Amino acid sequence: MSFNEIRWHPLLGTWNIVASGRATRPWRDVKCPFCPGAPETGEGWDVISLDNRYPSLSTTPVISAAAPSFSETRPGYGRCKVVIETPDHEGDLDTISFKNLVKYVEILGRETEELARDPEIKYVAPFRNKGELIGVSIHHPHSQIYALPFIPLKIERELEFMTRYNREKGTCVICDIVKEEQGGGRVVYSNRDFILILPFYAQWPHECHIYPRRHFQLLSELTAMEKESLADILLITVAMYNSLFSFSLPYMMVIHQAPVKGQHPQYHLHIEFYTIHRYADKLKYAAGIEWGYWAFTYDELPENRVKELKQAARKAVERLGKQQYSPLGVFQP
Ligand code: ZN
Ligand code: ZN
Ligand code: FE
Repeated sequence: MSFNEIRWHPLLGTWNIVASGRATRPWRDVKCPFCPGAPETGEGWDVISLDNRYPSLSTTPVISAAAPSFSETRPGYGRCKVVIETPDHEGDLDTISFKNLVKYVEILGRETEELARDPEIKYVAPFRNKGELIGVSIHHPHSQIYALPFIPLKIERELEFMTRYNREKGTCVICDIVKEEQGGGRVVYSNRDFILILPFYAQWPHECHIYPRRHFQLLSELTAMEKESLADILLITVAMYNSLFSFSLPYMMVIHQAPVKGQHPQYHLHIEFYTIHRYADKLKYAAGIEWGYWAFTYDELPENRVKELKQAARKAVERLGKQQYSPLGVFQP
């Protein structure tokens, strides 16, 4: 019997996802379940989304036991999806054709829309983990989408502060950042619809954010043009990271969109990349002060890290040029 539940954390005011059936999931080195021809994926595809076979959340959740009085247990209702970005077993978002990258963006939008229709789902969280150091269990390039029965704490916090900023200044904080940082030193790259920036308030060594120029809330609202622009800036971002050191860089990519129930006009969708390498051979850990207190320490001026990224971006463009790709946007010198 496996159980899927969410448990209330009474000190932090958020939910933990508890799933007992996941301990048996495949861990590396087994035959790849995502390569073409595998039972899950079949043949004749370029980008596909599937249900995760070992989901943390379930559409038929069973609760293990009642919660003690100081907490609460609810069914772990939700969906976990996998988006397989290429039939190739190796690679990253920068080795996929532009056409398929646009398709990838379309799938994320379509999944958001479909998952949002479920009355129980309050939040759709698309993310991408890459690299063994990040804990990836299957190497084949893929992203994941969690459809959650609650709004994650970080999103609640962003929503609260975007709303507060709007109340105090009458504008949107991300719209203001895009305006003020435009043409400035922290911007690495920008195209018609998005900017790539190492934020003033970065927490991880080469953390970068992608901000849309247009104020909107959900991936399902992307226009056809914006889908192409997003594919372009994702490609540039990942190619830049993979040119930073002499190896393919581990990272987490998270898409922060608005909750899918109710109206959240203050929210401005964006994408965040977290990297853990300070140098080629030195890692940044979320240790006592960072994880224990959520107070991040940054061991260099973020403005100096931007210079490293700009250098990497130049190398990336050369490499992409050899792959016949020319960026749609411009690099900030
Ligand atoms: Zn594979
Ligand atoms: Zn905005
Ligand atoms: Fe965010």
